[in-house]
Amino acid sequence: MPSEEAIQLLFMGTGTSTGLPLTPCLTRSNPYPEAFSDMVPLLRATETSHSPLAHIKGTWNPDGKFPSNIPCPCCRSAVDPDVPEGWKNKRGNTGCIVRKKSSNGDGEYKNLLVDVGKTFREQAARFFPEWGVKTIDAVLLTHGHADAYFGLDDLREWCIRQGRAIPVYLNQATYEKVCEAFPYMVDKTKASGGGDVPQLIWKIIEDDDELEIIGINVKVLAVHHGIYFHSITPSPSSSSLSQTTPQKRLEPEPLICLGFMFDSSIIYISDVSSIPESTWSRMLNRNSSSSSSSSSSSSASSSNLKSAPNPSAILPTPDDTPSSTPGPEVPGVNVNTNGRSNMGAEDKLPILIIDALWPLRPHASHFSLQQALNVALRLKPRYTYLIGSTHPTTHFMWEEICLSLQQQGGTIDGINGKHGKRQHPDRVQSDWLVNKVWEKVLTPKEGKTGKGLGEIWREDNGDSIVRPAWDGLVLEVPPRDGGGQGRDEGERGEGGDVERLDLSTRGLVY
Ligand SMILES: [Zn+2]
Ligand SMILES: [Zn+2]
Repeated sequence: MPSEEAIQLLFMGTGTSTGLPLTPCLTRSNPYPEAFSDMVPLLRATETSHSPLAHIKGTWNPDGKFPSNIPCPCCRSAVDPDVPEGWKNKRGNTGCIVRKKSSNGDGEYKNLLVDVGKTFREQAARFFPEWGVKTIDAVLLTHGHADAYFGLDDLREWCIRQGRAIPVYLNQATYEKVCEAFPYMVDKTKASGGGDVPQLIWKIIEDDDELEIIGINVKVLAVHHGIYFHSITPSPSSSSLSQTTPQKRLEPEPLICLGFMFDSSIIYISDVSSIPESTWSRMLNRNSSSSSSSSSSSSASSSNLKSAPNPSAILPTPDDTPSSTPGPEVPGVNVNTNGRSNMGAEDKLPILIIDALWPLRPHASHFSLQQALNVALRLKPRYTYLIGSTHPTTHFMWEEICLSLQQQGGTIDGINGKHGKRQHPDRVQSDWLVNKVWEKVLTPKEGKTGKGLGEIWREDNGDSIVRPAWDGLVLEVPPRDGGGQGRDEGERGEGGDVERLDLSTRGLVY
């Protein structure tokens, strides 16, 4: 049963497709794009010198030495040891390890790697030794962008050491991208010889699949991640009256990215611009298996699982070929008329992990803060972790925005009222940004409610915690049967919550 052991999620990367810091920010190749000044204002030298915080180490100093002379607060923080916890601004491509101890009682974890992006090798070297990740037992890919699969080639040594092929679960569109980028991984005749190639077994999954992978129940959550255009050539019949060659035309289509729900406890959506209604139903009825979910448009699921069509892709069978064991059958959760989950407090979704690129602006292929919060309002998780943020907003600024939601007032004074201001080099810009977020995002009235998002959050979701995630953070959800009781609560983060700060790896400034 999936719930007998605690499930852990270890953040390998929480950044964008480029990762942070951006080298041109460090080299000041473009000192500070004007386009960003409405997101976080640049404190120019004169303003900085008048700032009451000008003396604080880690503040931008245009005449100083590297890295204090870098204007972008986020990229500077990532490399400046004088910025408190500035290393949290060093972010790799989004990806994580989801793991659980194996059921055979040997105490060893089995590790499911979600996405293998451009920064995989670097992130693995940073974190795996401290986390004790010694094997990669299966891989899930979200979509066919470089930041999700360009690190596949670095799995070769893992395959050799483990002495078996690694199963990779991905949808058909992503598989086709892999075939284009790494032909030798799907067809050994394309390898030039002499070098090792990763031994991978391709497992094509569908948008509404439910699987069990290394003892973890995985429900696929298909979402849109921007749109792309593909060319269509009209059929000859439609242009038969004309002698001209049929003209190709471009048709827009949403790019499908896969989110996942693990053991009905953790929802992970790394790249999203909109969520189809069928996926909402799966999330709101999270305790239903696919086969009993009224929302599923096609039959579930593990039985649909098929290997990739290319016979040369079929490599030696690994020890842990996924079984077709369905997930636990638990009565579904009612959904009330406003489409929100009716779950009792004890049955709250423990963790939502969701894409939020910028606090103030929308984006064509990623959620903004506003969209991420609206998802949290509908799902009502106990904890929401924001991922995928980019510069110039810093981790400290995201923390301050999140704190402002959970405290009285909604203004800087509101924050001060409870905990007092934290001294930080980003303080002045952060104060500006938090006020701007309340003015532009959290205060404007939503729909017919007559209330702003911030007010709705406090009334509706007041006991829910929202935080920015960081590379190296470890989360843990105890088993539902209470098997984890008795563990020292001091090992957890503040308030005995889901954060395992004792396991979390603090990043190094380089
Ligand atoms: Zn930057
Ligand atoms: Zn993408």
